[in-house]
Amino acid sequence: MFQMPTTARAAVLEEYGQPLRLRDIAVPEVRAGEMLVQVSLAGICGTDVHQSHGSLTIKPPLPNLQGHETIARIVALGEGRTQDVGGETLRVGDRIMWAHADCGQCWWCQVARTPVLCASRQGYGFAHPRQLRGGFAEYEHLSALTQVVRVPDEITDEEAVGVGCAFRTVVAGYERLGGVGFQDDVVVLGAGPVGLYSALLAADTGARQVIVVGAPAARLDLARRWGASHVIDITEVPDPRARLARILELTGGRGPQVVVECSGVPVAFNEGLEMIQKGGRFLVLGQTSAATLPVAPGLITGKGLTVIGSVSAAIPHFYKALQFVKTRRHRYPLGALVSRRYALEQVNDALADMAAGREIKPVIDNRLRPGLVLPPRDAGVAAASASIASKGNTP
Ligand SMILES: [Zn+2]
Ligand SMILES: [Zn+2]
Repeated sequence: MFQMPTTARAAVLEEYGQPLRLRDIAVPEVRAGEMLVQVSLAGICGTDVHQSHGSLTIKPPLPNLQGHETIARIVALGEGRTQDVGGETLRVGDRIMWAHADCGQCWWCQVARTPVLCASRQGYGFAHPRQLRGGFAEYEHLSALTQVVRVPDEITDEEAVGVGCAFRTVVAGYERLGGVGFQDDVVVLGAGPVGLYSALLAADTGARQVIVVGAPAARLDLARRWGASHVIDITEVPDPRARLARILELTGGRGPQVVVECSGVPVAFNEGLEMIQKGGRFLVLGQTSAATLPVAPGLITGKGLTVIGSVSAAIPHFYKALQFVKTRRHRYPLGALVSRRYALEQVNDALADMAAGREIKPVIDNRLRPGLVLPPRDAGVAAASASIASKGNTP
């Protein structure tokens, strides 16, 4: 029988460059508008590798609890928390995903209407462990400001987990780009999850050709299964001049109308500027490091390019990405993104495998935990904890 947890096992980053340590964290009380969820899958991201090494541009204070791409089941709903952003009723046992919580009050939230730039965003996967706001744990605690979306019942955890970071980032980026034109040629630089979803959306939108440049072979194979018409393996074609020649050959000598930078390798920005056709559009999603390099800005002027940056995403992008998964799950093998699962105790192996590029998307799978009991579906929380208001659980 499900027991309301008082502590949660969590893998905590206590020192940069050192293995995460397993700790038991007291589960915070669930007050009005808050939620407690049981983590099903927590994706491991390239960002997690940089975070654990201390090489992110903004270092979160230590200790912190990582894991920002989570799918989880509702354990308890605070008073007043009754619906997701799509207007669907939330019940104990439902699966949800959620965005970093923006404040809704600052200039970026209210005037610029760009919540991803919120000045006081409450991030998941970067906070002090006592707040239990990270996916490398058995449970997570969601703040009252956190917007959530219910995961449609039809889709599997594996099909959904990529929405938690890469896919919503791509949906948000394409929105800023203004979409991909029907019959455009699109080059995607990088074949990690962001590159794969970029190829998927471009292909599904009706691009004429989608050319993915990256490695290793397993990722490029998935790119093909997700609709890429051509892949260029950078380990087989290591010379950028040779890759440019191949792309020009495929695009009638003009280059692609759209380039999407997803590799995060700084010099890929220059490769993109060079290959893109006159009047083309360049979406830069992958550049998250503080690295600098010489650039020829005259290419932007001379070719009349539109260069667009985009970071992270807000709740509408989660919602749209999940709707895409729901309607396209029979067309593409979306669950194949998850290349390996690890128990929470193996999180350091998972991070090492991600760092070495051995995986597409490794996940912490709490369903591997012996004796894990799922929260009861639609049974309310009153029996488990009288201190938690149950108003939100009635249909
Ligand atoms: Zn991520
Ligand atoms: Zn704000």
